[in-house]
Amino acid sequence: MVKQNLLISDGKLGGGLAISLEILGEDTCLEISSSSSRRKLMKSESQPGGKVATFLASMRDSSPTRFRDTTDRFGTDERISWVVRHPSALALGMFDQIVHASRGKQIVMFLDYDGTLSPIVEDPDRAFMSDEMREAVKDTAKYFPTAIVSGRCRDKVYSFVRVAGLIYAGSHGMDIKFRNKKSRGEAVSFQPASEYLPMIDEVYQILLEMMESIPGAKVETNKYCLAVHFRCVDENKWSVLAEQVRSVLKGYPKLKLTHGRKVIEIRPAIEWDKGKAVEFLLKSLGYANSDDVLPVYIGDDQTDEDAFKMLRDRGQGVGIIVSRVPKETDASYSLQDPSEVMHFLRRLVEWKQYSNLTY
Ligand SMILES: [Mg+2]
Repeated sequence: MVKQNLLISDGKLGGGLAISLEILGEDTCLEISSSSSRRKLMKSESQPGGKVATFLASMRDSSPTRFRDTTDRFGTDERISWVVRHPSALALGMFDQIVHASRGKQIVMFLDYDGTLSPIVEDPDRAFMSDEMREAVKDTAKYFPTAIVSGRCRDKVYSFVRVAGLIYAGSHGMDIKFRNKKSRGEAVSFQPASEYLPMIDEVYQILLEMMESIPGAKVETNKYCLAVHFRCVDENKWSVLAEQVRSVLKGYPKLKLTHGRKVIEIRPAIEWDKGKAVEFLLKSLGYANSDDVLPVYIGDDQTDEDAFKMLRDRGQGVGIIVSRVPKETDASYSLQDPSEVMHFLRRLVEWKQYSNLTY
C-alpha cells in the first residue's frame, strides 16, 4: 500500500486542501480533510451520457467489476469533487459536525447489512460480519435505539448479526417485527406485502430453474422479495441473465425489478422501501413529528438511497454512504468500507460515554 499526502491549491476557497491519497492495488481512495470540504470545488460528476438508458447499463453502473470502471467515467477532479461533497464521516471536523447536530436529540441508528456491516463476498450465504463489528453494533445499541434495515429476509439477517435487542427490518423493510422498548415491550409487526407471498414463491421456482443455465448465477429468496446474484457470473453473460429475468417479470406486472451491487431484485410493486420503513420505525419509536431525534442511516447500495432521500426530504438526520468510489447519492457523508463503519460506531459510543460523564 502506498500512501501519499497531497496539497491541492484552491484559489477560490482561499486555501489549500489536504488530501490523503491511498493506493491499494487497483483501488484508489481519497480522503479529504478541510474546514471547507462541504463546498463544491468542481462541477457535478455527471458526465454527458452518464445517465444510463437501459436496465443492463444500469446494472453495470451499479456493479463495477474493477476500480478502473469508475475511473473511465469519473476523472480525478470528479472524484475529488465527490469526496468534497460527501466527506468522510470520520474526517477532521465532520464527526464533530454530526455529534453537534445531535445535541439535545436522541440519535437513532439505522444500519444496512451487506456491504455496510459485512464485506461483499462471492457467496452471499457467507457474508458474515466480524466479531469486532458485532461488539461495535452491540455497544451502539446500548446507547442508541438501533435498527438493521436489510434486503435479506429478517430471519437470515438476524442469523448473521445475532445481537438481541436490535430492531430487525428485513426484505427492504417489508418485514418488520420487534418488541418496542419505548412502550413497555409492545409487539410491533408490519408486513405490507403479505398478499404477494404466493406470487413471490412462484417466481422463485421459475427463476431457480431458469438460472441453472447461467453459470455462477444464484437465486435467493428473501421472503417478500427475491435476489438474483450475478457476482460470480461472467460479465459477457449479464445481458442474457438480465433479459431472462425481465422476461419472467413480464408475466407478473404486480412485481418490479430493481438492482444493486451485482444483484437484481424482484419485489412487490408497492409504495414501500427502506425510506418508508425508516419513517415507520421512527413513528413506532415515538418520533413521528419530533425535533428531538437525529436519525443516522448508514448503507452502501441503491436501495439505501430511498432512506437517504427520505432523511433529506425530512430535513432531519444524517445519511452516510459506504463507498470507495464516487456514485450518485443523497447521502451527506461517506465511509469507505465496513471497517470504517465499525470505527465510526466505536467513536460514536466513545463520544456518548464521554458526554455522559461530563454533562
Ligand atoms: Mg448493502
